[in-house]
Amino acid sequence: MRDLGIERPDDLLTYLPRAYRDWRTPQPIGSLGSAHDDGGEVVVVGTIEHVSERPGRYPLVTVRLRDASGTIAAKWFGRRHLLGGKFPVGERLFATGRLATRGFVTDLNVTNHRLLRDGEPYVGEIVPVYAASKELPSRQIRTLIQKNVAALIARRPDVLPANLVERYDFPPHAQSWREVHAPSDPARVEAARRRIVFEEFFGIALAAALKRSRRAQAGGATALRVPLDRLWIEFTAQLPFAPTGAQQRAIETIWRDMARVAPMTRLLQGDVGSGKTLVAAAAIVLAHAGGVQSALMAPTEILASQHAQKLAPLLLPFGIAVEAVFGSLGARDRRTANDRIRSGEASLAVGTHALLTESVEFKRLGLVIIDEQHRFGVEQRARLRAKSAAPHTLAMTATPIPRTLAQTKYADLDLTILDELPPGRTPVQTFVLRESRKAHAYEFVRKNVALGRQAYIVAPAIDASESALTSALEEAERVKRDAFGDLRVDVLHGKLAAREKDAVMDRFKRGETDVLVATTVVEVGVDVPNASVMVILDAHRYGLAQLHQLRGRVGRGVAESYCLLIAPDDAGAVERLEILAETTDGFRIAEEDLRIRREGEFAGTAQAGTGAGTIGNIVADFEVYMKAKAEADAIVARDPELRDHAALLQLVDAVASARAMLVTS
Ligand code: ADP
Ligand code: MG
Repeated sequence: MRDLGIERPDDLLTYLPRAYRDWRTPQPIGSLGSAHDDGGEVVVVGTIEHVSERPGRYPLVTVRLRDASGTIAAKWFGRRHLLGGKFPVGERLFATGRLATRGFVTDLNVTNHRLLRDGEPYVGEIVPVYAASKELPSRQIRTLIQKNVAALIARRPDVLPANLVERYDFPPHAQSWREVHAPSDPARVEAARRRIVFEEFFGIALAAALKRSRRAQAGGATALRVPLDRLWIEFTAQLPFAPTGAQQRAIETIWRDMARVAPMTRLLQGDVGSGKTLVAAAAIVLAHAGGVQSALMAPTEILASQHAQKLAPLLLPFGIAVEAVFGSLGARDRRTANDRIRSGEASLAVGTHALLTESVEFKRLGLVIIDEQHRFGVEQRARLRAKSAAPHTLAMTATPIPRTLAQTKYADLDLTILDELPPGRTPVQTFVLRESRKAHAYEFVRKNVALGRQAYIVAPAIDASESALTSALEEAERVKRDAFGDLRVDVLHGKLAAREKDAVMDRFKRGETDVLVATTVVEVGVDVPNASVMVILDAHRYGLAQLHQLRGRVGRGVAESYCLLIAPDDAGAVERLEILAETTDGFRIAEEDLRIRREGEFAGTAQAGTGAGTIGNIVADFEVYMKAKAEADAIVARDPELRDHAALLQLVDAVASARAMLVTS
């Protein structure tokens, strides 16, 4: 059971069926024919008229079943039902299966059956189907749950406030859990599931709301009280461009956060190129003006040094000294850097994980910025924050997920979205090409290289299991040999050591490589303005949002830039990819991705949970989530410590101990 994620009794109760089979109404046998066959499951009850067995290499049992409307041959393949006596002529048999038509003859290939002896009436039922493993088939799970369902329900507290149950017209607690495991009616199952999903999301949202509210009351951070109007004028006066409206709004929000004693915990989400660095600079400027230091951590040395380079000119007019802290620093440089950070001489420390080492101590750290926050573990982020009592924290991410979904994924953070790109960008021109035209794409690359540009070729990871795919290594070999024999080709993939990766990237940045064949490890945020072409092989394998992020590596310079998506000759795949040719709006693309995924979810047979631990699906059940979140927020706003809602604290604790949340990205 452990491999199914079932460990505690309650896991068994919350292990909802993945589908239901409606076996309530047998179909008239005479009506079954190829004309009406939709490939779905057929349910019949008939009298056994004749049985024949074919032993041998491919054993087969055939039973002719008759009801008032006609007859059909029901078939069992394999050895299991051989050796007579199992199907006595004259008795009635219940069977389910799929139709198989050859010529004018339609047979039933049986998947489930039960003998109804001595005139036993057929009692139709809806049968729950559970995600199963080899050791523990669905049928066994069903029996196990059904035997224990009353006890399991009794153990589980009924915590949903009565007014919510009433307002949303939810069925009662015990009835809901019984209904999903021992269904009586599809509409009731659906209502029961709605309640259960709501309850789950409500718990999650409540935990997040509580966390946010506790943080807001906590205090302990340095309230940076600086005349903001003047700071804004000084800050913008020295910029080479005007901030976008979105940047301005983000900076205002962040500055207001930082003026409080409650530590800021904000996530800045903005598409590639939306200008998050500028917002970070504004936060650093306020921190400096308020007399505290800042730390900025990025996942790789390339990104960190890029930040240091970009930030220095923005911060220079404010007299902010920047110190870089990298793993590759020599011992002496390292010591100097540490000294300057400890003395407070350096106002900003920019670096990689190297910032986390104990020897890096701040005089007065007041602001922590984490770039590409998803690349760091919770523990690493916490370690950086631990270098000060209660610093303000700004996390940044370039993953554009739709506004709505972001609210679920980052439920316990305050969220700011940069949904506007700086003006004057020439969008990357994107084309979808069929596999057969790959040579044209490479020819195009060659032309651009001849003009002095550089190119990326993105290929799947080297351990791609599907043999039809071209791995980055193979492709690099191939293009070196066939297409670009005279060009400087380099390979970048995840199996390289960090140092080698950086070396490859550095060569590319310096223009010493013409073509970089890479897996998707090409860093988010890497800025090589001279790279103007990207070819993505097997583009159909990626989500639209991921392709959009990849393509963000080009189009960073003045040259017109291009993204060529190579996909097999498959109309569906090409149509999906065409969306990228139409728009460069990352949020629209993410929404499109979501829409496609949602349709996928609904098209599947899955009606309920995907396994233990979580029941609701944040994509398919999004509306339920939003309602649950609104209710949870309202309760915490009125009763921030849940003093009048003791039962709900149990729910929050349950969430805390439950497994992590859901599929979102
Ligand atoms: P990202 O959000 O991907 O980190 P960056 O901060 O690296 O984006 O900004 C991308 C580019 O856009 C940089 O070259 C930066 O100088 C430029 N930029 C940022 N804000 C503006 C603006 N308001 N107007 C014009 N260019 C801008
Ligand atoms: Mg960036």
